[in-house]
Amino acid sequence: MTQAAEPSQERLKQELDHLLQRLSRTRLRQGDQLDQLTLPPARRPVYLLLRDHERAERLAQQLEFFGLSVQALFSVDALLASVAEQAPSAIVMDVDFSGPGCGMQLAAQAQSGLEQPIPLLFFSLHEADTPTRLAAVRAGGQAFLTGTLEASSLLEKLEIMTSTAPLEPLRVLIIDDSRTQALHTERVLGSAGMITRSLTDPIRAMAELAEFQPDLIILDLYMPACSGPELAKVIRHNDRYVSVPIIYLSAEDDLDKQLDAMSEGGDDFLTKPIRSRHLITTVRNRAARARHLKSRMVRDSLTGLYNHTHILQLLEDCSFRARREGQPLSFAMLDIDHFKKINDRHGHPMGDRVIKSLALFLKQRLRKTDFIGRYGGEEFAIVMPNTTLDAAHKVLDEIRRRFAEILYPAQPCDLRCTFSAGVVQLDDELDALSMASTADEALYRAKHAGRNCVVRVEP
Ligand code: GH3
Ligand code: MG
Ligand code: MG
Repeated sequence: MTQAAEPSQERLKQELDHLLQRLSRTRLRQGDQLDQLTLPPARRPVYLLLRDHERAERLAQQLEFFGLSVQALFSVDALLASVAEQAPSAIVMDVDFSGPGCGMQLAAQAQSGLEQPIPLLFFSLHEADTPTRLAAVRAGGQAFLTGTLEASSLLEKLEIMTSTAPLEPLRVLIIDDSRTQALHTERVLGSAGMITRSLTDPIRAMAELAEFQPDLIILDLYMPACSGPELAKVIRHNDRYVSVPIIYLSAEDDLDKQLDAMSEGGDDFLTKPIRSRHLITTVRNRAARARHLKSRMVRDSLTGLYNHTHILQLLEDCSFRARREGQPLSFAMLDIDHFKKINDRHGHPMGDRVIKSLALFLKQRLRKTDFIGRYGGEEFAIVMPNTTLDAAHKVLDEIRRRFAEILYPAQPCDLRCTFSAGVVQLDDELDALSMASTADEALYRAKHAGRNCVVRVEP
């Protein structure tokens, strides 16, 4: 390799990383472009086939409110023609559509000749026996719902089934004073599809951690500025990085020294020279498990949204980035109106369903680059990077208007529900914390202004 080839190769690699990251970000929703601040365009439709046609139409309408494009179909021919014209993102099929037990056969028929199987969800009005469920599995059914087919539970299942988001590439930070060693490790991990970054100056580690957000850190044992174990302790001082795995990679082969290093905040010790496959497998397993655990730690279990602590953390991260890059950032707080009454009249489980459905509604309607959190009981917080106050207000008000149109089937009567919101944009006066309290005050004003509205705080 010539000397001149090095920098261009490095640039190529950076560009590739960047493209990979963009690719994984733009997978589910297409609203990533800066100029596209209106609601995301509909995805491929879901075909819905129920024996009860009226119910199918009603359900399709309800699902449309959540931003899903759904087409109710009423005959075998209509299904076959529609599939031939456009492959759907999923098919919801009544097992008894066009005759008792005929749904499974029909679904299999619709699939025949297709390169990619269509995600299939079967539905049975009555409790289904094991042979029926077995037939559904054999026909390629990924889910089976029985009883009253609720829009929210159907949506939840469809969301999981049609989610094509691949695992984002794992991110590894390498801290080593030897550039050659760091580059070698980068190359090995990069060849396995991981995104890497290396740092030869350990003093810059904390800034790099905040910026790069690695899933795992590879640490050298001996460096001039500080030792690996010292740096590991500094990293562990910060609560955010307590669970990021740290793996030492060093030529040190004295077992006692290795064990000493591990007892100082390290998770594993790998000795150089190491086979590529050994390094890749160790890093991949540890990083993937750490990411999985972290995703459980930062999410709320009812809605799957980010929890209170994490959404505030994201607000802080995003405000740093927005300032550095000179980009706008907006933040909103939402609170469901008169929620106590919903609990009182329809019961706590119904209240929970409304909370879940608003969470889903927000996920469907906002861009993938927005961060959505459950701030408290029936309160939500949204961090919107690269978004001006005007744009944020417009999107939220549209969501507010559409959410208010949803009719929840309930006893003793169906119910509708609204929310109020306060929205604020980052400026020189506000930091992350004061943004949150300012949005909260705006929300309070929205409540006083009669609810079901979005109040914006002018800079
Ligand atoms: P406002 O329009 O002023 O917001 O009135 P509100 O009734 O929505 O507000 P308030 O804060 O008085 O009541 C919120 C209620 O939400 C009280 C609490 O019992 C209920 N709640 C909080 N968390 C949950 C939850 O996870 N599930 C259910 N079902 N209810 C919850
Ligand atoms: Mg409320
Ligand atoms: Mg409240």
